[in-house]
Amino acid sequence: MEFFDFHHHKKNISFGIYNLDLNSVPTDIPYSIGIHPKAINIRTLEEQFQWIESTITENCIAIGECGLDSFAEADLKMQEDVFLRQITIANEIKKPVIIHCVRKFYEVISFKKYAEQPMIIHGFNKKESIAEDLLKNNFYLSFGKALLYNLSLQNTLRITPLDKIFLETDNDDFDIRDLYLKVAEIKAISPEDLHQQVLENLETIKNG
Ligand SMILES: [Zn+2]
Repeated sequence: MEFFDFHHHKKNISFGIYNLDLNSVPTDIPYSIGIHPKAINIRTLEEQFQWIESTITENCIAIGECGLDSFAEADLKMQEDVFLRQITIANEIKKPVIIHCVRKFYEVISFKKYAEQPMIIHGFNKKESIAEDLLKNNFYLSFGKALLYNLSLQNTLRITPLDKIFLETDNDDFDIRDLYLKVAEIKAISPEDLHQQVLENLETIKNG
């Protein structure tokens, strides 16, 4: 049985959402497209947006990863402008937004009001209180490798409703199956039911 990988950077995984490299051309696997806050280049920003606009095909599942990162070179105002423009594109093409966020969760929450489509925080690995605030604001949380060993994150998972969960490998090299087994154990359901639920969540975000 193959498990769905919500966010990854590997061309050899076909059952999941491949995050397209900047300025690259999509293959026939489902993908997301966006400008990562660390990839913002002020000199070529308009070309970056043209790339997005001209690269959206029927295999495009989501806009992203995009968002805010306190370690990115671009200043926060620039990051917010670029984030908002991508939210606007997502609204226009009716696709969900996959968010990269480092230490800017409350700023990201303040952008939720502009989004007409679902927003998913990818690689979520923070404490319960931040998860609670995100969930209250209707965000989805996608968990990765850290969940396998981070006990505090496992507690965060306990309070995250099953209909708000995605699972991903991102850049990490491990088997997504191990993550499904771990989450199934913590949530006390079968891996098959968990997978079914994740696929239903995927349908929900696709339908706005
Ligand atoms: Zn990623």
